[in-house]
Amino acid sequence: MSIRIIRTGNDPVLRQVAKTVPVINRGIEKLLDDMAETMYHADGVGLAAVQIGVLKRIAVVDVGDGLVELINPEIAEKEGSQTGAEGCLSLPGLKGDVTRAQRIKVRATNRKGEKVDFEATDLFARAIQHEIDHLDGILFIDYLEPSEIIHENKQETHS
Ligand code: ZN
Repeated sequence: MSIRIIRTGNDPVLRQVAKTVPVINRGIEKLLDDMAETMYHADGVGLAAVQIGVLKRIAVVDVGDGLVELINPEIAEKEGSQTGAEGCLSLPGLKGDVTRAQRIKVRATNRKGEKVDFEATDLFARAIQHEIDHLDGILFIDYLEPSEIIHENKQETHS
């Protein structure tokens, strides 16, 4: 495993739409391993492949309940709403309150190539929505007015 460099700020890769992963091979497994290591090293709760410059629809999330690997994730259903503070490993020092669905149904593929369906709520649902946005070139600041973006030196939760 190795720690990859996280792309930040105005890096154009963060605004591109990632491509569907057609087949899971050794390279994808290595990428998943590197993404998890990079996320934990940066003390984040989620990381999308585009954040390390790889335009593939892959994300990893761990909000404290264990590592979840998502290949080609999609949100099948959304319900309710929650508003809470968000940051991003690609936007160090920025924070803001973002409103997202409270409960989602997710469809994805795991590293064995199996289709998985599961429900997520609260922070887990927030982190997944944030990561899937990355796969479409969307950043959390896109939901905020400039006056709603908080600039700070220390971050707590990143994804
Ligand atoms: Zn992010």
